[in-house]
Amino acid sequence: MAERFFMHAAFGTFAANYRSMEKWAEKLTLEIDQKLEKSRVQDLRFFRIDEFKRNVERVEKFSSSCADCKRFKTEISESVQNINEAIKTPGRERRGYDRLINRLSKHIRKEHGFYPPFYFSYVYALFGIIGGALLGYLLVLVKPELRIEMFSIGISVGLIISYILGSTKDKKIRLQKKLM
Ligand SMILES: [Zn+2]
Repeated sequence: MAERFFMHAAFGTFAANYRSMEKWAEKLTLEIDQKLEKSRVQDLRFFRIDEFKRNVERVEKFSSSCADCKRFKTEISESVQNINEAIKTPGRERRGYDRLINRLSKHIRKEHGFYPPFYFSYVYALFGIIGGALLGYLLVLVKPELRIEMFSIGISVGLIISYILGSTKDKKIRLQKKLM
């Protein structure tokens, strides 16, 4: 009988914790919306508020197994208190918020595998240009009389390959619903 009572109590605590955990992101999202009710749409976009809110939800989900996410929860709760000031006026609050969302998105990307749209297309394009320039340089050595043409071919090949690889990877991220 006592055993059942304890089990019941333990489960009750567990359920209550789970509920309050679940409510954290919900409550915070609501708070963000209320505080930014009068903000301009372009400010909300510039400060990536939608991404921030999605990451708040992710932090909550991962915080039971990830110590960093657990720490982020405290930081996020504090930062949200002055989020309207951070958005409205340049200064300490804004710098703090900026740093937080950047660290947060880096963590969510590196540790939990969520990526911004077109992330791999951009990253691979950079490598494509570098690799393409190298290839162009080699082609110029082969045919020095067609210097500009050979160099252009190198860059084009580099960009085409990186475009194909990058967009394939981005498509996979979208399909896996791992968009940040
Ligand atoms: Zn984490």
